[in-house]
Amino acid sequence: MPSRQWLLAVNLGSVAMIGIGLLFVVVWMVDRRRWYALSFAGAVTGFTLAGLVLSIPLGTAAASSIHGVLFPIAVALLIDGVLRRRAQQFRWMTNAAFVVVLAVVVCYFAYPMPLLIARIVTQNVGMAVLVWTASWRLWRSGVTTTRDRVCLAAMCLLGAAVMANLVCAALSDVPRELLTDADLTAYLASALEYALIVATGLVLPGFVATMLAVTVVDVIEDLRAQRDRDELTGVLNRWGFNHRAERMSTSAGCALALIDLDRFKRINDLLGHAAGDAVLVMVARELSPGADESVVGRLGGEEFAVLLPGADLDRALVWAETTRRRIESLTITTGEHQVTVTASIGITASRGPGVVRLPDLLEMADKALYAAKAGGRNRVAAEVAGATH
Ligand code: GH3
Ligand code: MG
Ligand code: MG
Repeated sequence: MPSRQWLLAVNLGSVAMIGIGLLFVVVWMVDRRRWYALSFAGAVTGFTLAGLVLSIPLGTAAASSIHGVLFPIAVALLIDGVLRRRAQQFRWMTNAAFVVVLAVVVCYFAYPMPLLIARIVTQNVGMAVLVWTASWRLWRSGVTTTRDRVCLAAMCLLGAAVMANLVCAALSDVPRELLTDADLTAYLASALEYALIVATGLVLPGFVATMLAVTVVDVIEDLRAQRDRDELTGVLNRWGFNHRAERMSTSAGCALALIDLDRFKRINDLLGHAAGDAVLVMVARELSPGADESVVGRLGGEEFAVLLPGADLDRALVWAETTRRRIESLTITTGEHQVTVTASIGITASRGPGVVRLPDLLEMADKALYAAKAGGRNRVAAEVAGATH
């Protein structure tokens, strides 16, 4: 019967979801802090088992009851994954209450009072409540990245599919139970069954696949941040700075400043490495951009670089002098000590987009920095096309 083949296709779809579940486990094995990947893996397994239970010859009541337990567990795990990803969670009591209430109501409509439509409505109302509540929480917690927006959009789509199920349940004339072939044929022809096929065969796998993509991008973005950022100070490391500054320096005229702390080794020697680290963190914070577009990197040790897009040498000189004074006036408390530090700054500027390449800018700024050190430290020096100022 073609309609039974429909059911088979839907079940094959849910078996295919196991593959997605395994991929979530792989992601978790790559990055074990990412517990939400396991929640998603659990959800996928739950949905797959729930789908399969309905198609094995157990008897309607028994199959519906087992499905009635597995389905809310899968929904709770799915929503748990979405929330955990944003460091949020429903309390475990809330999740337990959700599963127990849904399972009890569904079992009631499977055994003492068998009624197919009541089981379907119960599960969809439960899912709608959880999906929309979690979407509201996600929205309230702030949607900042494209991934967050994708997650929220996927949740809204899932919520809409569940609501469509409920509307179709209200409009469809569904048999009390699927006891005969005639019951099954009538049910399979109903709008409700089509809505359920769309929800479970299309929207849900699509949602899970989207969450997999989001999780993988989360991992990649984390790795990228680790590759580009200096762990101690949070500014770009040499690789990240070169990469970002190269792009900016070729698209616009810019100035470059190299900042090297003066006699920094003495701070380490006198007060210890931790004190030195605290100084580096404070100086990096001082250099970090406010509203402007500057690119800040720690090239190594106690040497920082700042690219000022669109700045000419005069503007860079003003920036460097202000920065030198700000660093000079910093008082950094580490343990019981108060530390002050000064910096020498070498600057240079390119006269237009693509006129001077980043390596050349770095070389010129380095010459200027050398001049600043040689001139007595705690000062700014500039280098333009072969001349030091
Ligand atoms: P100058 O004025 O000539 O620049 O002298 P300096 O002492 O600042 O320069 P030098 O290159 O001799 O010393 C740099 C020191 O920076 C040596 C090293 O111990 C220290 N350093 C490098 N990386 C770190 C770090 O991550 N943390 C701390 N605390 N110290 C670091
Ligand atoms: Mg130094
Ligand atoms: Mg140095």
